[in-house]
Amino acid sequence: MLRTRSSPRGRTAVSAVVLLVGLTASVAVAIGWRMQAVRQVQHSFAAQAAGVGSAVTTTLLRMDDLAWQARVLIGSGDEVTNTRLASWYANIDAATRYPGIVGFGYIEFVPASRLAPFTKQLRRDPVPGLPLGFGPLQLVPPGPRSYYCIARLALAAAVNRYLISPGLDFCAIQGIGVLQSVRDSGQFGAFTFNRRIVAVFAPVYRGGTDPSTVARRRVQIAGVVTEIFDVQSILRQALAGHRGLKLSVSRRDVRLSTSSGLAARVGTLSTIASAGTAPGSALTKRLSVDADGRWMVTVSGSPQTGLLTPDVQGSLVLGAGALLSVFAFLLVRTLSRGRARAIRTVHEQTAQLRYMALHDSLTGLPNRRLLLERADQMLEAATRESHTVTAIFIDIDGFKGVNDSFGHAVGDDLLRAIGRRLIGTLRSDDTVGRIGGDEFVVLAAAGPGRDTGQLAERLLDALREPFELGEPDTVLLSVSASLGLATGDRATAEDLLRDADVALYSAKSSGRDRHVVFRQEMHVALQERVSLENDLRMAIAGAQLELDYQPVVELSSGSVIGAEALLRWQHPTRGRLDPGEFILIAEESGLVVELGSWVIARACADAAAWQSFAPGVGVSVNVSARQLEDEGLVATVAHGLRASGLAARTLTLEITETALMQDPDHIARRLEALKHLGVRVAIDDFGTGYSSLAYLHRFPVDSLKIDRTFVAGIGKTDGTESLIRSLIQLSESLGIETVAEGIEEEPQRRLLVKEGCRRGQGFLFARPLPTSSLHAFLRANSEQPSARAGASR
Ligand code: C2E
Ligand code: MG
Ligand code: MG
Repeated sequence: MLRTRSSPRGRTAVSAVVLLVGLTASVAVAIGWRMQAVRQVQHSFAAQAAGVGSAVTTTLLRMDDLAWQARVLIGSGDEVTNTRLASWYANIDAATRYPGIVGFGYIEFVPASRLAPFTKQLRRDPVPGLPLGFGPLQLVPPGPRSYYCIARLALAAAVNRYLISPGLDFCAIQGIGVLQSVRDSGQFGAFTFNRRIVAVFAPVYRGGTDPSTVARRRVQIAGVVTEIFDVQSILRQALAGHRGLKLSVSRRDVRLSTSSGLAARVGTLSTIASAGTAPGSALTKRLSVDADGRWMVTVSGSPQTGLLTPDVQGSLVLGAGALLSVFAFLLVRTLSRGRARAIRTVHEQTAQLRYMALHDSLTGLPNRRLLLERADQMLEAATRESHTVTAIFIDIDGFKGVNDSFGHAVGDDLLRAIGRRLIGTLRSDDTVGRIGGDEFVVLAAAGPGRDTGQLAERLLDALREPFELGEPDTVLLSVSASLGLATGDRATAEDLLRDADVALYSAKSSGRDRHVVFRQEMHVALQERVSLENDLRMAIAGAQLELDYQPVVELSSGSVIGAEALLRWQHPTRGRLDPGEFILIAEESGLVVELGSWVIARACADAAAWQSFAPGVGVSVNVSARQLEDEGLVATVAHGLRASGLAARTLTLEITETALMQDPDHIARRLEALKHLGVRVAIDDFGTGYSSLAYLHRFPVDSLKIDRTFVAGIGKTDGTESLIRSLIQLSESLGIETVAEGIEEEPQRRLLVKEGCRRGQGFLFARPLPTSSLHAFLRANSEQPSARAGASR
């Protein structure tokens, strides 16, 4: 089970936190936003209200100013007539300077005793629009009273509307009492009607100053300046261009006219007039005008926010925030899920890829890369803990034959079984890997007391134990192997493995089924081999190859019956090389196929050439196991014969005994095909392998070449003669002729003749000869018809 960095629970927690934080933040931001919006609205409202309100208060203050001016005018002592008032009024341009003013006048407090002269005066200077007529003043309400408050001066404009008659006694009007309070208080007073019109009264005392007591004020009162203005129009003017605002004006000392009459509300703040509308929960702003604190202007309104009131804005922000939070929540969830999934997939795939990159797919064993990693680690540990590491290269001998004989499934089974068996033979801290084909590597930590030579032998023994393979038919197989060992003290793992490989090569080339411990000089050999292999590739094209021919003779007469083609390499720097120096390399590198084709063609051509003077003298060509495996061999031989015109029966193909053992069935089939061409087949180096004669009858063999080690043993090694004898007899019984190799001495020839071997070759008769020398030899020794008859058998 692979661990990923974030568990599902962890992911949910993270996304939940994101959501929570998002929502909390949204609420906080929304509240903040709303507050800010409210503040802004309040601020703009305050500014707006202040503008509108101050326009009103300014007007009201100026009204008060006007009242003061009028007071001064009238209280100065100079007689003020209606005409003079009108001109003063016109001079100060009051109509434009005091917008909203609708009337102006002066009401005189007239004691009963002075009513007649007052009437006289009024008659002289009547209030415009209020003709007195003749006779006494018609008092409204009718008297007698101790004093009367009658309009003395007024502007024409105000008269018709607000002064009912010339004799109207303002102080006697039921419930008003404003003039008396103005008189008594020395303060301005006001009176309103229709919630629109305000009359402001300012007392004028005789003597020019305000008396300090009520009693004195009552004595000294001359009258009140009356100023009438339309508050509504003032308010409307101030409101022009400002929607959603309501303005109202209150006054502390005002007296109201109500539908039920007149109510006195002196001292309390009473609304005089208002204008505009302020829907909803209006904000209000009170502006008090500093004119004895009497005026109060109230601005209320819902500020101009359009559709986006602070509440709406706050809600929108909250909504957007919540949406964003949910989005972020989902995003985090999706991403973390996707990321977790991606991480998991990456982990899995990485692990899988790493496993695949580091393991052999067939056996599951570590591959070269992992082996190198392990070897590096082991080498490091070895340096620290002062022990050594041994690398063992194992190559299964003749493994190819298993595949060829039993099929690849069995071959694969065998490789797996070998892996298991190797593991079973090793300690748990050792490592077994497969680095390709039939090559295994063991890395063994070798402490003191561990004999790696013994270990190698144990491995070889383990492999020799039969393997039970294949289903349903069980195949019992035992294998041998070549082992190369290299121990410790290398700079890199590559070095160690390379050395083990070099040792393995040495084990193989020195006969297989053994272990070889690496020695430094093996490197030189290996390097030689590598350079030789490279050179060999050039050899064919570079015409460096030659064939020597060793005559095969009738042992009794010495006449030539054939010649064996033996390859020579005229190496540009190393000089002339014998096959022993390069044929193994050619086989292992596969170059031998190309090389062999050249030899076959050349030998056929040469033999065809010597037929003219040595008719029937055959030619033998060595064919390696690798060539036998090659599909093209039959065609190559056929082509060699066809091209040269050589009779097929004149050509003998020599196959070494060990080559027969690799894949007998396959070789047998291939030999049958060759035989079909009409060529002869000889088993070369017979006796060096382990095949028995009985085994030979499976192959279509014409002759058998007794290996020169047997011939060399004649007269020297006990039992050699009897062995040669039984070999010759058995061959004859199978109809196979024998040819002895390496006959160097006359006693050898004699014994062989005595035992029934009729043909042979060796230095005793001739060394391998270049073509020209062979021709001479043939001319001298191939006269006898019996020899020719033998060669063409
Ligand atoms: P071989 O087929 O057994 O060839 C006989 C070898 O014995 C030759 O060695 C030959 O020089 C040597 N020989 C012959 N008479 C005597 C003797 O009296 N005493 C001693 N000590 N040696 C003798 P050579 O030429 O070095 O060839 C060695 C092997 O190389 C051959 O053994 C053959 O197996 C292989 N070979 C040679 N030419 C070819 C070739 O064209 N193709 C292949 N595949 N193998 C070849
Ligand atoms: Mg030979
Ligand atoms: Mg031989």
